[in-house]
Amino acid sequence: MPSLQTYSTFGLAAYCDSIQSFTDVASFLSVFNTSKNDKNAIYILGGGSNSIFTNDFDGTVLVNEIKGISHFDTEAHHYLRVGAGENWHDFVTLCMKEKWYGFENLALIPGSVGACPIQNIGAYGVEVNRLIDKVECVFLEAGEQVLLSNEDCQFGYRDSVFKHALANKVLITHVNFKLPKHYELETSYGELAALSEPTPEKVYSKVIEIRKSKLPNPDELGNAGSFFKNPVVPKALYEAIAQKYDSVPHFVVSGSTELPALQQQIKIPAAWLIDQAGFKGKTLNKVRCHPTQPLVLTNLGGATGGDVITMAKDIIASVQGKFGIQLEPEVRLLGSKGLISL
Ligand SMILES: Cc1cc2nc3c(=O)[nH]c(=O)nc-3n(C[C@H](O)[C@H](O)[C@H](O)COP(=O)(O)OP(=O)(O)OC[C@H]3O[C@@H](n4cnc5c(N)ncnc54)[C@H](O)[C@@H]3O)c2cc1C
Repeated sequence: MPSLQTYSTFGLAAYCDSIQSFTDVASFLSVFNTSKNDKNAIYILGGGSNSIFTNDFDGTVLVNEIKGISHFDTEAHHYLRVGAGENWHDFVTLCMKEKWYGFENLALIPGSVGACPIQNIGAYGVEVNRLIDKVECVFLEAGEQVLLSNEDCQFGYRDSVFKHALANKVLITHVNFKLPKHYELETSYGELAALSEPTPEKVYSKVIEIRKSKLPNPDELGNAGSFFKNPVVPKALYEAIAQKYDSVPHFVVSGSTELPALQQQIKIPAAWLIDQAGFKGKTLNKVRCHPTQPLVLTNLGGATGGDVITMAKDIIASVQGKFGIQLEPEVRLLGSKGLISL
């Protein structure tokens, strides 16, 4: 049985029945239909930086390697059509070289272009949905190709239609981006705000520098980035917490700022909650809650799926007990039959 260890940046030892890569829709459909006829489970994989195989997977893993980048310009915009199997950071770096600006805050996020719409990747004040024009997909059952508009994708915070109505129903083949030639750089985030005379190049370099200093490099220490989403809570709950703790970090969720105070939604960093619950730097067998960023769980080498699940459940229960907030995983956890929840 082939090993999945190097196909997921968390790097747990796990196996599956078969791993096959594809470079176009026809080769994907051929493998997909064969696996389906054999009643094999199927999991589509990009860079594996948001997927953790907690167990052997009874099925076929299909790795997307659809490549290619094309581009045209109008007076106001750059339009890009990008193969889903392109590496995200390489693509962002190419855009910087070509002066197709807009992606600078999203530098150094691991993974593939095809996965970027799925959880609407975001960092340092920018989410990718604001640059996505259309997403090209193939419906798995019918083999039919469809073009989804930005609106069809129903983007939200680390969320989209691909996690709900279209979960496990489509293969994303290409993402089409529309970059305004005139736009405002997003530098409101802490260390970016300190940049003097910011340019896209300066933001790009700074983001890489900050990420390298704070986040473990998956090539050196297995991890899947943020393990949990930052919870969004009603203002009344935030205020109850703020009465008990000094300076609770928080952000009013954009879109709710216009609402009466008590209806506003407040985002509290999960890293702060996990730290307060006493998990920062804590180790369970071979899984560690990262000392400089407690939102990240790492594989110290030889961790098991059981270790990961136990640590994650402990964190969820502690944060729930202390703050009454239910953390939700941002990562995709897989068991032997497919996606699992905690
Ligand atoms: C160190 C580190 C830092 C990170 N920082 C960030 C960050 O700042 N912001 C952020 O948003 N995320 C971050 N992440 C998470 C991760 O990089 C993103 O979620 C990324 O988009 C995952 O891409 P991938 O190709 O590796 O996804 P995979 O893990 O391969 O797949 C993720 C999900 O998408 C599905 N999928 C993948 N490709 C396709 C396709 N073509 N068609 C249909 N379904 C598909 C898979 O089935 C799976 O369910 C980080 C991860 C790491 C390891």
